[in-house]
Amino acid sequence: MAVDEAKKAGASKITEIKLVIGDLSTIIDESVQMYFDIMSEGTMAHGAKLIFRRVPAEFCCKACGLKYNKPKTGYDCPSCGGMGMPTGVGREFYMDSMDVE
Ligand SMILES: [Zn+2]
Repeated sequence: MAVDEAKKAGASKITEIKLVIGDLSTIIDESVQMYFDIMSEGTMAHGAKLIFRRVPAEFCCKACGLKYNKPKTGYDCPSCGGMGMPTGVGREFYMDSMDVE
């Protein structure tokens, strides 16, 4: 995907790819980089550095309706202690931008 984009832009080499990963996604930075290194072998993206930006998981309290980022421990509402439900924010995984040469 990144290689197609870079070709369109007339680039010869991709140096850096920025990815957005939600905190709730099951993706682990190291495994993406490893997978990427294998996938990009022989392409202009080979050797590119992956930069990850983490998006905090967002929860919505069932009791008071407050939206909040996931606390360090647990999922409870920081305001009333009610049960929080995931809003869907925090499950992202997409390419944000990239640097080319
Ligand atoms: Zn609450």
